Amino acid sequence: MENILNYINGQLVEPKSGKYIDNFQPATGKVYSQIPDSNSSDVQIAVDAAKTAFPKWSVTPAEQRAKIIMKIASLIERDMELFVQAESKDNGKPVGLARMIDIPRAISNLEFFATGIMHFAAESHSMEDSAINYTLRQPIGVVGCISPWNLPLYLFTWKIAPALAAGNCVVAKPSEVTPMTAFMLSKLCIEAGLPAGVLNIIHGLGGSAGQAIIEHPDIKAISFTGGTKTGASIAATAAPMFKKLSLELGGKNPNIIFADCDFDLMVKTTVLSSFANQGEICLCGSRIFVERPIYEKFKTAFVEKVKRLNPGNPSDEKTKLGAIVSKMHMEKILSYVEIAKQEGGKILCGGNKVEMEGDLKDGWYIAPTVIEGLKYDCRTNQEEIFGPVVTIMPFDTEEEVVEMANSTIYGLAATIWTQNLARAHRMAGNVQCGIIWINCWLHRDLRTPFGGMKGSGVGREGGFEALRFFTEAKNVCIKFK
Ligand code: NAD
Repeated sequence: MENILNYINGQLVEPKSGKYIDNFQPATGKVYSQIPDSNSSDVQIAVDAAKTAFPKWSVTPAEQRAKIIMKIASLIERDMELFVQAESKDNGKPVGLARMIDIPRAISNLEFFATGIMHFAAESHSMEDSAINYTLRQPIGVVGCISPWNLPLYLFTWKIAPALAAGNCVVAKPSEVTPMTAFMLSKLCIEAGLPAGVLNIIHGLGGSAGQAIIEHPDIKAISFTGGTKTGASIAATAAPMFKKLSLELGGKNPNIIFADCDFDLMVKTTVLSSFANQGEICLCGSRIFVERPIYEKFKTAFVEKVKRLNPGNPSDEKTKLGAIVSKMHMEKILSYVEIAKQEGGKILCGGNKVEMEGDLKDGWYIAPTVIEGLKYDCRTNQEEIFGPVVTIMPFDTEEEVVEMANSTIYGLAATIWTQNLARAHRMAGNVQCGIIWINCWLHRDLRTPFGGMKGSGVGREGGFEALRFFTEAKNVCIKFK
C-alpha cells in the first residue's frame, strides 16, 4: 500500500504527527493508500519554505518560470497513462473520461498560464497636466490554493498554475478524498527542477490542514474551490485578516430547453450535462426546465437514453458512468432521492444504489436518476445534490422560467437551448449565473472569466482574471513638469 507524502521545501516528507488517513478506491469501497494527516506544524514548515523561496522566484524572469511550468506539463504528458489510471482509481470516474478530460486539461492549465504570463501586461494612464500613472502588478507572496475532489488534478492545476506563473510561492492542499494525482505531480515538480519551496503540497483534512492554511497570517491570498458552506467558513476566517479571496463554490444549475431547440443535439448534450462524471461536476445542469409543447417528447427521449446508461467498472474502457466518490457522498445523494419522494416527486428512472458483483460488490454506485412532478421551490430543487440526479419540470413562459431558474441561492452556470437569437440574448442577460452556455455545455475557452454569482462564489478565475487575482496592483504616479 502506497503512503502519500507531503511535498515541502522540494522534498517528499512524512507529516509531523506521523499519522495517516485511509484513502479509498470508490470502485471497490476498499482502502488502497494512506494520506498524511497534516496539521498546522506541517503548514508552518511549508509557509517558512515558501517565504524563503519567494524573493528569488518572484524576480525570476517570467520566461524562465514559464519554462519550468511547461516542463512539468510535458512530464505529465509523458506519464499520461499513469495519471489517467490513478485519477480514475482515486475518484471513481471512468478511465475514458480521465483520459479525455481531466489529465489533458491539467496539462493545458499549466501550459496556458505558463505562456499567459508572458503576455500579461499592466495598464498606464497619462494625464493632461504632465503626469503619467502606471500600474505595477506584483506577485503577492505566499498564497494558499485549496481544491475539491470532483476534478482532482484539473482543478488543482487550475489554481497553482496562475499562482506560480505570476511569481508567487504556494502552499496547496488537494482534497483528502482524491489526493493521489497531486502527490504524483509533486514528484514531477522535483524532476522538472522547480526550486525548493516554490510549491508545497500539504495533504490532510479540511478542518485541520486546510484550516491551518486559511488561518496562517503569512498566507496573503486564498484561492478555494469547494462547497458553499465551506466557502462561508473560509470567508469568515480570512476576511477579517484582509486576505484576498477567490471562492468557487456550489451550484444548482438550470438547463432551460425551449421548444424551438435543435432537439437531437439538445437531448444528447443534456444526457452529458446531467450525468458526466456521475453528475459530480459543479457545472452539471441538475434542474431541467422544458417548454410545455415538447415536455412529453423530451421526457420519453431523455429517460430512454438515461436508462441505457448503466454504472460500470471505472477502469473498463467502455464505462460511461463510474462510481460515486465516497460512501458518505453516496448516502447524501440517496437521502435526497428520499426527500424528493417525500416532496411528491415521481422517480422516472434510477433512484437506487446499484449492487455490483465480484471485486466491485462493496463499491459505491448509483443508477442515473430522473425525477418529475416537483415544485421548483422544494428542497430537491433548491439544494445542491452533486450526483447523478436531475429533475425535469415544464414551463410556459420566458418570464416564468427566468423566475424559477433564479430562485436558488446559487448562480454558477446555466444552459439555454433555443434557435431564437433574440430570446437567447435576453435569457443570457436575465439568468443570474456567471457562466451561460447557449446550445452547448462545458464548451470552455480558458481565456474567459470563470466563476459564479450569489452563493456560487466571489471573484473569477480564468485567463488574465486569474493572473490579476494572484498579483497586487500598485499605481505609480509620476509628475514630470
Ligand atoms: P468541500 O468544501 O468539502 O472541500 C473542498 C476542499 O476544502 C477540500 O480540499 C477540503 O479538505 C477543504 N476544506 C474543507 N473544510 C475546510 C476548512 N475549514 N478550511 C480550509 N479548507 C477546508 O467540497 P468538496 O466536497 O470537496 O467538493 C464539492 C463541492 O465543490 C461542491 O459543492 C461543488 O459544487 C463544488 N465545486 C465548485 C466548483 C466551481 O468551480 N465553482 C468546481 C468544483 C466543485
